[in-house]
Amino acid sequence: MQIQSKLPDVGTTIFTVMSSLAVQHNAINLGQGFPDFMMSEELVSLVNTAMQQGNNQYVHMNGLPLLREKLAEKCLKLYNNNINANDEITITPGGTYAIYTALTAVLNKGDEVIVFEPAYDSYIPNIVVNGGTPVLISLEYPSYKIPWDVVRASITPKTKMIMLNSPHNPTGMVLSEEDIVQLKEIVTQHDIFILSDEVYEHLIFDNKKHLSILRCPELFERSFVCFSFGKTYHCTGWKLGYCIAPKALSTEFRKVHQFNCFSCNSPAQVGIAAYLQNENAYNKLGKEIQKKRDYFRELMQATPFKLIPSYGSYFECYSYEDVSNESDFDLAVRLTKDYGIATIPVSSFYNNKTDNKVLRFCFAKKEETLEKAVERLIKWKG
Ligand code: PMP
Ligand code: GLN
Repeated sequence: MQIQSKLPDVGTTIFTVMSSLAVQHNAINLGQGFPDFMMSEELVSLVNTAMQQGNNQYVHMNGLPLLREKLAEKCLKLYNNNINANDEITITPGGTYAIYTALTAVLNKGDEVIVFEPAYDSYIPNIVVNGGTPVLISLEYPSYKIPWDVVRASITPKTKMIMLNSPHNPTGMVLSEEDIVQLKEIVTQHDIFILSDEVYEHLIFDNKKHLSILRCPELFERSFVCFSFGKTYHCTGWKLGYCIAPKALSTEFRKVHQFNCFSCNSPAQVGIAAYLQNENAYNKLGKEIQKKRDYFRELMQATPFKLIPSYGSYFECYSYEDVSNESDFDLAVRLTKDYGIATIPVSSFYNNKTDNKVLRFCFAKKEETLEKAVERLIKWKG
């Protein structure tokens, strides 16, 4: 039997490719974004207790009510948005799933979706599998700023949605107030939905403020805003997240969600609901992770790589165009095999494989891991 592929051009995600290669060659993995340090023992213990107390059956399909209430309180405190916990928050098995579900709920065949590249690798296949057409716009290199004039010129009667990601993976770019002004003007004038991927909301540095879509009523009324507990609490393997959207949009989101996942891991939801009392766990996160970024930056000065500054996320990008012409994919593979350090080639985040000779490094690691990694990297001379 032959299957007619819905995604004929899609291979295996670069994260799995590089992580598998890292395991095969016993390399230090600064590729895929996950921390190698222990998450909060308190949160682990809260989830354990939840299991021991019998919270092991299905919770409500939209998520544990207490968890949604706590998240609504957090939104009010941080973004001054009085979200309705009942109607506007849905707990999902991760941020990626939330993004997929929002696209599935909204897209009809032929709808166009504006996506900025480099783009997180799930966005384009998610649009295509739902019959949509990605309209790809490159961020300016090397600032990775949004070229708003190009956005304006790309709007057509079919433009249904614009996807945003701040702090941005892979570049660490963050939206500015000016970006929000431009966005407002465009989406209100042309009646466009927004999908805002804010999984790195707390991983933001240099005293910058996370400009969540949740802060602006004119934007929120047309938005799906997606989050990940995996990123906020350093437990990427738990795969739990949520989507906040106005009632009418959440209703459509839930129509898809209820027949795909229905309800998410219950003990983790009980544990996180209790842990949300601890505001320090997320308020201090940016400063803690910035220390790692700063330390990594300092170490990287001893290598031939040139910094492209990151203001958020788990990642920092470095250019090697001054020292080598090798393709970023080939270099990433060679560094893994021959030098024992895995990274992600940034061309993988472009549909047309634009290769600016840039690698992405995940610095959410123990200091000793970063030290060992750079010790190995120093040996590469281009
Ligand atoms: N969006 C971006 C930009 C990400 O980097 C991630 C992290 N993998 C996600 C969404 C989704 O996170 P998860 O599905 O692991 O919760
Ligand atoms: N978000 C992580 C990254 O960018 C990995 C997620 C995944 O492996 N799908 O590295």
